[in-house]
Amino acid sequence: MTLSEEAARAYELDRRHVFHSWSAQATLTPTVLTAAQGCYVWDGEGNRLLDFSSMMVNTNIGHQHPKVVAAIQEQAATLCTVAPSFVNAARSEAARLISERTPGDLDMIFFTNGGADAVEHAVRMARLHTGRYKVLSRYRSYHGGTETAVNLTGDPRRWPNDHGNTGTVHFFGPFLYRSEFHATDEAQETERALAHLERTIEMEGPATIAAIILEPVPGTAGIMVPTREYLRGVRALCDKHGIVFIADEVMAGFGRTGKWFAIDNFDVVPDLMTFAKGVNSGYVPLGGVAINAAIAATFAHRPYPGGLTYSGHPLATAAAVATINVMAQERIVENAAEIGAKVIGPGLRELAQRHRSIGEVRGLGVFWAVELVRDRATREPLAPYGGTSPAMTEVVAACRAGGILPFVNFNRLHVVPPCVITEAEAKEGLAILDQALTVADAHTV
Ligand code: PMP
Repeated sequence: MTLSEEAARAYELDRRHVFHSWSAQATLTPTVLTAAQGCYVWDGEGNRLLDFSSMMVNTNIGHQHPKVVAAIQEQAATLCTVAPSFVNAARSEAARLISERTPGDLDMIFFTNGGADAVEHAVRMARLHTGRYKVLSRYRSYHGGTETAVNLTGDPRRWPNDHGNTGTVHFFGPFLYRSEFHATDEAQETERALAHLERTIEMEGPATIAAIILEPVPGTAGIMVPTREYLRGVRALCDKHGIVFIADEVMAGFGRTGKWFAIDNFDVVPDLMTFAKGVNSGYVPLGGVAINAAIAATFAHRPYPGGLTYSGHPLATAAAVATINVMAQERIVENAAEIGAKVIGPGLRELAQRHRSIGEVRGLGVFWAVELVRDRATREPLAPYGGTSPAMTEVVAACRAGGILPFVNFNRLHVVPPCVITEAEAKEGLAILDQALTVADAHTV
């Protein structure tokens, strides 16, 4: 099949004029998408693909939900844009709905345009609140593409952007499959990762550290689900040293892990929480920071020195209100938990028994990583850290040819469909994955 005339024109103009993220421009052959509905997207050749990626892990309620589309249309017809200094009803209601769901006393919401600027503002708030400058973050993490956020990021995208002057310090988090601590079980990994973090704090000087930022369940870096003890331990270290605990929920928030927020799986309350993506399923750009009472009080009589033209943009926040209401009415968070526990988790573990290219399967809710290896014994990855390989390219092509769109990072396939995915759709996708994994198996030793 070939591209439709319209798709061919879009492709040609894209290649001539659109500068793409994180890419060498001349090497790209991006796919044209023309339509989407629920868990499916259509490419420019008319092929239907099951969206196992939720685009950028953000379309949590699926594509084109009619209630959210209608809410955006209604808001557009009434009031498209408002300066942030005015009260805007959509923003007020979105803030209420979000603060009702955030843990503890994180009841004030500062809206941004996306995840990276949410991280920038959370860090700024923590620095001003504590009067300290350093921020600790994990290796194997992603926090966004702007200056501070990319420096906090712990994956190779930081390297070409690292100016080394933003007060960021990295540490290793728990990751038993590739343990930095020579641990042999989760309890040991947790204990040693916490000891390592404590040592890092001591060696950096606790009085210089404003915040620790981490994804409660790291997303792009590999969906490593920590123990409850680990996150409780981080909370305790923050309390001991007066450090602000920032939970980055940009990818894992709003239902993805089968709870409203990933941190809810661990009964821990952070001081600041960043969110974006799932807050309105990505229908209109939106992010934000949920702020606890103590940090909000810092700015009660002292101006907060930061802002954005589109802080709480009416179209974006109207989409958030509709999305959150739809999620509650249609039990979408519960669906993510059930499909993960009953279908995707068991399905992937079953695949791991039959495919020797699978080194490890891990995740929860609709948030799963399949780690592909050349050799199960040595755990040599099918593509190097920070890179790709002909083998991974072939596996991804096999997924696409079979009819699924996976989220791919280095040697990992992430199974991260919309939270609304049905059992039948999940099984359809797993069957296609089964076929694609035979291609990966051919590259094992
Ligand atoms: N934090 C996390 C955990 C993320 O996953 C992302 C995006 N993948 C970001 C921050 C940055 O968000 P954005 O791309 O909206 O700036």
